[in-house]
Amino acid sequence: MTVIVILGFHLKGDYPEKLEKQLIPFLKNKKQKKEDWLLVITGGHTDPYYPRQSEAMVILNFLMEKMIYPEAIYLETQSITTFQNLLFLAKNKDIQGLFQNIKPADSIIFAGEAGSKKEVLFLASHLLKRYKARIEYYPLYLYSDEKRKSKEKKYYLTVASYYFPPLYFWFSCSRWLEKRKLCWKIRRKICATPFSWGCDRCKI
Ligand SMILES: [Zn+2]
Repeated sequence: MTVIVILGFHLKGDYPEKLEKQLIPFLKNKKQKKEDWLLVITGGHTDPYYPRQSEAMVILNFLMEKMIYPEAIYLETQSITTFQNLLFLAKNKDIQGLFQNIKPADSIIFAGEAGSKKEVLFLASHLLKRYKARIEYYPLYLYSDEKRKSKEKKYYLTVASYYFPPLYFWFSCSRWLEKRKLCWKIRRKICATPFSWGCDRCKI
């Protein structure tokens, strides 16, 4: 059995078009092979213009329009970040039940924005490690290269800091030091702020 987890994102601009090119062929391929597969879609109410609409529902409607009908679909509609996508998934009772039937030969495939790959694989292997299935990532190239790279950098730090308090401490120290160095380069003075977010001159 394969569980495909689609991580939420705003489905607007040219995203539907990109999804159609990248995700639909992948899902249709699963369908053709007659593999047992289930779909989990996760994504909360993140669009301020449509607060009643969750990302998961929008993506589900999109897939239904494209005639994608897996054996079962589970929705998680509370999360607003990728981190929460995974956290709430691991805590959701229905989804826990689903994962409990997973065998070592099965696989869990996360499909999401390519920039979140490291974050997801890192978090998923920690949050879902009691399920012994293989965890894979199917990247969707929704953002421009530039945005993806900055996102990757940002999330990698955030991820580690959430999960390992000792690491969090070391990351804070290294970020603090980084800021001092940056500030020193800019104005040849030691940065005035006590924490890692920097002063007006060096904060990003
Ligand atoms: Zn500074």
